[in-house]
Amino acid sequence: TALQLKDPSLWRHQACIDGAWIDADDGATIVVTNPSDGSGLGTVPRMGATETSRAIAAAHAAGGDWRRRTGKERAAILRRWYELMLQNQEDLAALMTAEQGKPLAESRGEIGYAASFIEWFAEEAKRVYGDTIPGHAPDKRIVVIKQPIGVCAAITPWNFPAAMITRKAGPALAAGCTMVLKPASQTPFSALALCLLAERAGVPKGVLSCVTGSAAAIGGELTSNPLVRKLSFTGSTEVGKVLLEQCAGTVKKTSMELGGNAPFIVFDDADLDAAVKGALVSKFRNAGQTCVCTNRFLVQDGVYDAFARKLAKAAAEMQVGDGAASGTVIGPLIDAGALEKVEEHVADARRRGARVLVGGERLGGNFYAPTVLADAKPEMRIFKEETFGPVAPLFRFHTEAEAVALANDTNFGLAAYFYGRDIARVWRVAEGLEFGMVGINEGLISTEVAPFGGVKESGLGREGSKYGIDDYLELKYLCMGGM
Ligand code: ADP
Repeated sequence: TALQLKDPSLWRHQACIDGAWIDADDGATIVVTNPSDGSGLGTVPRMGATETSRAIAAAHAAGGDWRRRTGKERAAILRRWYELMLQNQEDLAALMTAEQGKPLAESRGEIGYAASFIEWFAEEAKRVYGDTIPGHAPDKRIVVIKQPIGVCAAITPWNFPAAMITRKAGPALAAGCTMVLKPASQTPFSALALCLLAERAGVPKGVLSCVTGSAAAIGGELTSNPLVRKLSFTGSTEVGKVLLEQCAGTVKKTSMELGGNAPFIVFDDADLDAAVKGALVSKFRNAGQTCVCTNRFLVQDGVYDAFARKLAKAAAEMQVGDGAASGTVIGPLIDAGALEKVEEHVADARRRGARVLVGGERLGGNFYAPTVLADAKPEMRIFKEETFGPVAPLFRFHTEAEAVALANDTNFGLAAYFYGRDIARVWRVAEGLEFGMVGINEGLISTEVAPFGGVKESGLGREGSKYGIDDYLELKYLCMGGM
């Protein structure tokens, strides 16, 4: 492959357990491919339960020293990790585009976004405050302290190969927890490069291990080993439910960032050009493969045709191609399975009466044309299921109440968006939407300073912001009597 890195040592082909870079016990490997052309990039170890259990034991052993350090010491190490990520931004972005497919500009952006979580939680490491509570009897004093949960497991997806790791490792390490990470098998190189930089930043051995390989075998060990006190997962609702069940056996704490089915409502009084701009970024970023991507556009009758025309025109202008090529704004889908799901959703919608305004077809390989569908109906699969591809179905509504009811008519509750000007309606709709995050006249809401997470079957817990570190801390109540 032609991938040239300024620092080739960032490209690791071994996993990292207890500070050592190693192969699987039996030497087995997984091939990683470039989704843009299917070419092989290289291999990583195919590990299983045995190697995972060693990583967990190492995390447990390293935990005592790590939690006893001051927040300031942990902060200094995390800060160096953040700086190393930015210093190596170009290499990390090139690696990400090669294994994930997203355009280079998006990969660079993700490395910046990923690094921002390490910076943020480096700062938060010093601000884990407790509480004092007036006692319930004259001779009693009450203090609440916060302590690290202990060994944490993280299982992360391929759509954000770097940021979904730092959003978990940042707060975990800041809080004084240790972590065993299982990255997605499609995108392990980004994960391993981050672990190497963590090592260079001074993260002690065992504090962050990365185990690549069989999801079921590694996941089975991470969820059943009693030394693991918490699991943080980002991925599909389907797998999240399996992991929740598996965690029940040892009553682990969990954070779950699962699927979404984001509505994007356009009211009659919206600034239509702004709405189209927001629609493009919320729908087509990462070729539609993000859990906060708009899945359903709900457009009010009075602006439906104008919005459809403008969105279709903009979608037709998007350049599809290899993420490493200049000018590309939409890369390939991750694999053939992803493409098939998109095709099935579009075929189902067409069968039930949707009109293709633009796109509606695969472009060879894993590429799918940016697509806008008019006359979408709630009985279509595309209304109920996450498409995870570059398809924008437009549903028509007449009243505000109808829009909110349609938006909430899903088991998911991650992100929602709406465009409108009337201030009273803005508040009513924002409060009425059953979602964890709402973009109001805004299509891009992710930032390390705000709490990211969902309600209903979209998950448990919040990542990022001043709230994010709480997911890695336990409250302990001290009652002092006999005063
Ligand atoms: P996506 O749709 O993003 O691929 P998945 O939920 O399939 O979502 O995958 C997210 C992560 O979960 C990946 O790291 C994947 O390897 C892992 N995973 C998938 N199945 C299991 C499982 N049964 N146990 C543990 N991890 C799993």
